Amino acid sequence: MKVEFFYYLVFCTSSWIVSSEKLEFTALNVALLEPNGVKILQKLEKHLWSAINNLGEIIRVNASMSDEIPMKKVLDCSPQLLDQSFRIRLAREETIKIDFEDGKIGLENGKFNFLLILGQDFEKCKVDDTLLATASPCYIEGSNRPLLGLLNICPGQRRWKKFSMITDLFRHEILHSLGFGMIKEKNENKLNDESGLFLDFDKRATDFMIKSFDCDGLAGILSDDERKTHLDQKIFKTELMTAVLSNRRNFFTNISAMILEDTHLNDGLFEPIK
Ligand SMILES: [Zn+2]
Repeated sequence: MKVEFFYYLVFCTSSWIVSSEKLEFTALNVALLEPNGVKILQKLEKHLWSAINNLGEIIRVNASMSDEIPMKKVLDCSPQLLDQSFRIRLAREETIKIDFEDGKIGLENGKFNFLLILGQDFEKCKVDDTLLATASPCYIEGSNRPLLGLLNICPGQRRWKKFSMITDLFRHEILHSLGFGMIKEKNENKLNDESGLFLDFDKRATDFMIKSFDCDGLAGILSDDERKTHLDQKIFKTELMTAVLSNRRNFFTNISAMILEDTHLNDGLFEPIK
């Protein structure tokens, strides 16, 4: 994620609320896996936990999932972990002891339901000195939602000093690690037509936008480019999931929430919005 230093118009805020007859949902509960070699400033750490806590309050996820993550998947995601120890934290001040049985990390009876590995990709950070962080899902079991994600931070970049919406930046990245813009619909044709590159699989976000903004004839939620990882910057401006964050405020709207909810390989990974 890169940042910019302008303020755009205020969009709408989002709410994630309940309802499903079939599936059981629970609050998103992120645990952070920190390799000992990855050091970030206290200030960044504070914002990272604010982002984790905020998303835990507004996102609910399918609870009926596997209760363990194979250690192999963790190492595939972060090869740095092969030669260093790490700790897992449930909250800023709460480290938990995990028993590694049979090469797996157990989710501790639901104490957490998503594991986020903190990493550093020095090569990427060096190539682009405006880059502050990137994230992606690492392990998706079958057609379920991701259980594991990787958040790479470039802690040494000078841009951190000028950027004030650091919690938003981490919220943005964590949404990527949950699959936003990173998990693609198998049928890519469904996402495109001659008029553009669309991010929403099921068109619910499009319907929402047509209704809310009275923009009839909207064919889809336009993405920035063919990678389709972000909302179009020119249209969505201060939305949290555009490619460039505002330095004033960024809004996680129903549009991104619905896209995330429809980002799945099967039904019911994230709780539907009412
Ligand atoms: Zn992004």
